[in-house]
Amino acid sequence: MNDTKLVIVVPCYNEEEVLHETTRQLTSVVERMEKDGIISKGMFLYVDDGSKDATWRLIEELSGSNKRVMGLKLAHNVGHQNALWAGLEWAAQSEFDAIVSIDADLQDDVNAIVEMGQKFNAGFEVVYGVRNERKTDTFFKKHTAQMFYKLMSTMGGDVVYNHADFRLMSRRALQALVAHPERNLFLRGMVRSLGFSQEYVYYSRNERFAGESKYPFSKMLSFAIDGITSFSIKPLRLITSSGVLFIFVALAIICYALYEYAVGHVVPGWTSLLVSLWFIGGAILTAIGVIGEYIGKIYREVKRRPRYFVEKMANIE
Ligand code: UDP
Ligand code: MG
Repeated sequence: MNDTKLVIVVPCYNEEEVLHETTRQLTSVVERMEKDGIISKGMFLYVDDGSKDATWRLIEELSGSNKRVMGLKLAHNVGHQNALWAGLEWAAQSEFDAIVSIDADLQDDVNAIVEMGQKFNAGFEVVYGVRNERKTDTFFKKHTAQMFYKLMSTMGGDVVYNHADFRLMSRRALQALVAHPERNLFLRGMVRSLGFSQEYVYYSRNERFAGESKYPFSKMLSFAIDGITSFSIKPLRLITSSGVLFIFVALAIICYALYEYAVGHVVPGWTSLLVSLWFIGGAILTAIGVIGEYIGKIYREVKRRPRYFVEKMANIE
């Protein structure tokens, strides 16, 4: 019999249509896990992200009828990542040993939580839920999502392919996560950079049980930009390298222009204009890149991230 206490954190924004079903399915999963001795206790924490519909009333109602349901109501809408953070911060100092985060809309397979629990018991501290297909997503969502992962990885953000925010973390890993004082949250990148022993659980993604996606394209785009800019300074480096490239182009053009000038094929003024155009362009880009380098340093500095987390010790009290 395992003594693992599990809490499932669920951010909810205008989810009145799905909460009953979500609760029903989560309940049946944790009941099964308790019966099979994977956990000793399973609870849910619904974080109401300033919903405008009856979500909070429903959470209160559910918490009355189902002893597993706990609720946290945020005063206004702060977005998925921040709402999840609110729940995680609470969980990091709770009695729970394992913390799962999942969306309210049942797109992620709740049954994968069983396997996550088993991996946790086997000693893994971060277990990612990874979708192995995207059959049910629209063509558009599928391709924009794929572009997002590609762009992220070329821009230097280390993210797990096809993993969103469905994952299990140990309380210790979670405490390491919430020790990050930054305000720009990109949880999947941050969790990845924590280290600790990590594992994967694969599942297939369903359609939203009810209601509409709260992530229209515009929000997805800003999420991608946030993800890149809050994780990597590669875009800044790109400016420097293109500046240097421009200067080389300028040099080639200078040679060419001088040659044309010497041969006498030119309209007066052409040589000086062309040469200065390319050279100044390159010089300006390089200068911006250099400034960018410093901004990159400031950016890393103001994050005030913790420098390390100890995973194990030997023979140390
Ligand atoms: N969500 C939230 N605050 C928001 C938007 C969304 O807490 O401002 C929650 C939402 O209730 C859901 C999860 O974040 O549980 C993911 O949202 P959604 O399913 O709409 O995104 P998609 O799966 O379409 O990317
Ligand atoms: Mg969804």
